Amino acid sequence: MGARRGVTRARRLVVKVGSGLIAAPGQGPDARRIAALAADIAGLRKDRREVALVSSGAIVTGMARLGLPARPRSIPEKQAAAAVGQSALMWHYEHAFKRHGLHVGQVLLTGQDISDRSRYLNARNTLLTLLDFGVLPIVNENDTVAVDEIKVGDNDNLAALVAHLIDADLLVLLTDVDGLYTADPRRDPTARRVETVEAITEDIQRLVYDEPAGVSVGGMSTKLQAAQKAGASGIAMIIASGREPGVLGRLLAGEGLGTYFQPRGDRLAARKRWIAFAVPPQGCLTVDAGAKKALTEKGKSLLPSGLVEVRGEFQAGEVVSLAEVGGGEFARGLVNYEASELRTIRGVKTAEIEKRLGYKGVGEVIHRDNLVVL
Ligand code: GLU
Repeated sequence: MGARRGVTRARRLVVKVGSGLIAAPGQGPDARRIAALAADIAGLRKDRREVALVSSGAIVTGMARLGLPARPRSIPEKQAAAAVGQSALMWHYEHAFKRHGLHVGQVLLTGQDISDRSRYLNARNTLLTLLDFGVLPIVNENDTVAVDEIKVGDNDNLAALVAHLIDADLLVLLTDVDGLYTADPRRDPTARRVETVEAITEDIQRLVYDEPAGVSVGGMSTKLQAAQKAGASGIAMIIASGREPGVLGRLLAGEGLGTYFQPRGDRLAARKRWIAFAVPPQGCLTVDAGAKKALTEKGKSLLPSGLVEVRGEFQAGEVVSLAEVGGGEFARGLVNYEASELRTIRGVKTAEIEKRLGYKGVGEVIHRDNLVVL
C-alpha cells in the first residue's frame, strides 16, 4: 500500500463523476449506474467518512429530455438544456440515496462564487453545514447562468476547488478509464497504467494524450490541473474507473486501483489556497533574480526594489502572478498597490516610496503572508 496509506485514513472526500459515467446521449441518466454509485457512497458514509459529490451530466441529460441530437452550440441553448437536465439528474440522485436513508442537497456554483472571497466563504459555510447535518452535497457548475467569463469550465477543476472549500483529504475523479496511462491504451498495446504520480513533472504532462470524447467536457488535461490544485494544498487525488464495481469502497480499503497522485507535504493554509487557485490573476509582476530568491528561498516579502516590470491593470488587493525576468510564473500574491502606482515605484528603495508617490504607502508590494510560491 505504501504511498496510499493516507487514502485509507481519509475522513472527508470529494468524489467527482463524469457525464459519460452516469448519463448516455439520447437516453439521459443511467439509473443503474446511479444506484451503484449511491450504494458505494453509502458504504463510505457507514465508515463515518464525509462525502461531497460533484456530478456532471446536466447538459447531456437535458439534451435527452429535450430530444436534442447534438450538444447545443449556443450558450442559451446549453443553459436551457442544463436547467432541464439538472433537475432530472437530482431527481435520480434523490431517489437513489433515499434507499440508503441519505438526504442530498443541491449546490450550484460558478467561478465567481469561488473567486469572490465573501461568496467563497458563504459557499464553504453552506457545504460544511450540509456535512454537519449528515447530508450529501451534490455540486455542479451553475450552467444556467454561467458564461465563459465567470465559469470554472469543467468539473475536474471544480471538484478540486470544492475539495479546497471543504478541506477534504482526498479527491477521487471517477471516469471512463482506469487511470493515467503511459500512452493511449485504445491505440497502443504497450500502454501501462501509472500507479503513483509523485509530482506533476513535464514527463507526466506529456502523458496527456486524449481529446475529450463524446459527452465529456474535460479530458486527462483537466484532471492533471485538478491534481495540481489538490496536491499543492496537501490533498491526495485518485483517478479511477467508475465502471469498476464498488470502486470507492475498494479504494478506501487501500486497493491499488487507478492512478494515485501524491500530495505535497506542506499543506497550504485555506487563505493561501484561495490566493493561489481560486482567483484568476489580474496582472503580472516581473521581478529580478534576487527578489525571486528572497521570495522562494527565504520566505521574504516582495519589495519595490526587486520589481522590474508591471503588466496588466489591477487594483490594490487583487491577485497578480509573479514571474522572473525571462521565466514563467512562480508565485501569486495579493498586491498592496494598484498597477499605476507600481509602475511609479518599481525598482526604488522602500525609503523612497513616499517621495515617488507623494504619500506614505506600505513598504511591501506583496506581503509574505499574502504570497504563495507555486
Ligand atoms: N457542468 C456540466 C454538466 O453538468 C459538465 C461539466 C464537466 O463535465 O466538466 O453537464
